[in-house]
Amino acid sequence: MDNVYAVILAAGASSRMGSPKQLLIWQERPLLAHALANAQAVLAERTVVVLGANAEAIKAAVDLSGSKVVLNPSWADGMAGSIRAGIRAVPDTASAVLLMLCDQPLISAAHLQSLLSAWQHAPERIVVSQYAESFGVPAVFPAAYFPQLASLTGDRGAKPLLLRFEDSLVKVPLLEAELDVDTTSDYQRLHALNEMQLMIDQPLDAYLQRIRELFIELGIPEELPAGRGLALCREPLELIVAETTPQGRAFYLTAAAAAAWHALKQAAAEEGITLLIVSAFRSADYQADIVRRKLGKGQTIEEILRVLAPPGYSEHHTGRAIDIGSDDCPELGERFEQTAAFQWLSSNAKRFQFFLSFPRDNRFGYVYEPWHWCYRGRLSAILRHSSG
Ligand SMILES: [Zn+2]
Repeated sequence: MDNVYAVILAAGASSRMGSPKQLLIWQERPLLAHALANAQAVLAERTVVVLGANAEAIKAAVDLSGSKVVLNPSWADGMAGSIRAGIRAVPDTASAVLLMLCDQPLISAAHLQSLLSAWQHAPERIVVSQYAESFGVPAVFPAAYFPQLASLTGDRGAKPLLLRFEDSLVKVPLLEAELDVDTTSDYQRLHALNEMQLMIDQPLDAYLQRIRELFIELGIPEELPAGRGLALCREPLELIVAETTPQGRAFYLTAAAAAAWHALKQAAAEEGITLLIVSAFRSADYQADIVRRKLGKGQTIEEILRVLAPPGYSEHHTGRAIDIGSDDCPELGERFEQTAAFQWLSSNAKRFQFFLSFPRDNRFGYVYEPWHWCYRGRLSAILRHSSG
């Protein structure tokens, strides 16, 4: 990847925002600083930042050292001019460019890395980010496309070029990146996302100690997880509210899983299928509470652990697992298998990187759970990445 350069387009005047969006603060840094840090995390100093409107203010507010800064004096003519300026600033020996915008704060370094990895497998093709309903930048353009990039005009960015080569594009699903900040209400949404974050921050040894104590209290054999092949599930650093019921109950997921869930739910709705979120993040302590309640009702720990993971070993701790119900089967039961919702999930959930964790006769010794789906996108640590 030594010959790949990032080109970050940051020349626009943010006419719909009222103030330079390059400098909007999110997680204590301007948006442009987030984009630049992510680009540098994967491509080090091979980064080009194209400035135009408000260039002096931006240079004063964002540390651009370590990247090449170029000016597009005719920024008012549209984004194509900035792409041209960026391509011109890249050395002749470059094998590809990673074209980025500065207003997609949910894009992480891991996203960029996955685009670059996809490109390494198909170095002659353009690799784009696939959103729920569209595709676009960040995108990797091989050098063979530089002349076409340099001859773009107008303010639609690289989109006309992507449409021309649509049949040969490599599309990498990046659902989290969907939010771009074009209007004040987008910015408010971004902040709402931020404020709803739940922070869980405990070191691994403290977590393991807590799990050990809960096992002893609940009478769970220490060797049970190893015997059943259960993996320790850690609570994530940050969660957001993925959904709130009309009664005010909040369901927490990681930002990545929440974005994937929203996209999944919407795609289902467009085909007339209503998916209901029944359960999402649960802490290990909450899991212990459920076990306590069942013990209180006279169930044995063996019975309980056929339907429930021991504290510390539930996928729900990761903020990536959801239990799904439907209009005609709102409760969790094997009957969910008979619903149109389950049929739809079986053929479509994997597109959104949701997978059924506990099929019939699963090797973990749990009952069949047609309602339990886990997001397995590799990019789920997104916010942790972007907040450094
Ligand atoms: Zn579940």
